[in-house]
Amino acid sequence: MATIAENIQEVRRRIAAACALAHRPVDSVTLLAVGKTFSADAVRLAYDAGERSFGENYVQEAVDKIAALADLRNKLRWHLIGPLQSNKTRVVAESFDWVHTVDRLKIAERLSEQRPAALPPLQLCLQVNISGEASKSGLAVDEVLAVARSVAVLPRVRLRGLMAVPAPASDPAAQRRPHARLRELLAGLQRDGLDVDTLSMGMTADLEAAIAEGATIVRVGTAIFGAR
Ligand SMILES: *Cc1c(COP(=O)(O)O)cnc(C)c1O
Repeated sequence: MATIAENIQEVRRRIAAACALAHRPVDSVTLLAVGKTFSADAVRLAYDAGERSFGENYVQEAVDKIAALADLRNKLRWHLIGPLQSNKTRVVAESFDWVHTVDRLKIAERLSEQRPAALPPLQLCLQVNISGEASKSGLAVDEVLAVARSVAVLPRVRLRGLMAVPAPASDPAAQRRPHARLRELLAGLQRDGLDVDTLSMGMTADLEAAIAEGATIVRVGTAIFGAR
């Protein structure tokens, strides 16, 4: 079985190949290593292999891991990529660097109020239900602009862009369509005058399609840490 360090090498190779195909510089894509269900020791191995940005889904699991890796805190960027309930916003505002899963204004307002003054602004993405699935969390496409305008003026957070988890698809063309829609949605925000630059999209199965459509952050768990 491959080690975490070998897996990271392979994921970086995939990212570099996808960037070359898309005529994009390789440093235009940030790899977010998604460690949910894996231990702090596994995250530390990824750190030793050069990773600095980590994604977590479950708030309590993440807070425990951030504490276990407190010696690395200034070197790491912690991103929340799982659902956020309003009763958990305070610990998230105090512990994380990024939240990708803002799906209503109320959550962003609480994060802004609760972000400690000593920390830099919390970096936010709005989660979009880009495939329009009834069961999925995220804003509907036609709600995004209004929420983005309101989030962009909050003082202690900084709106960076959009995030999506599209419905799974196996062929590359089908994988690209929802990513293209998210890219067009971000371009619409930019045309509206919002200073946004981030497209958080692409996972183990579809990172090439996401990079082809402009992903700036790919969130990869299985290909780095193994099956959950
Ligand atoms: C688990 C998860 C990932 C990583 O998925 P893999 O298929 O394991 O790469 C990415 N984004 C979100 C929102 C996730 O929950």
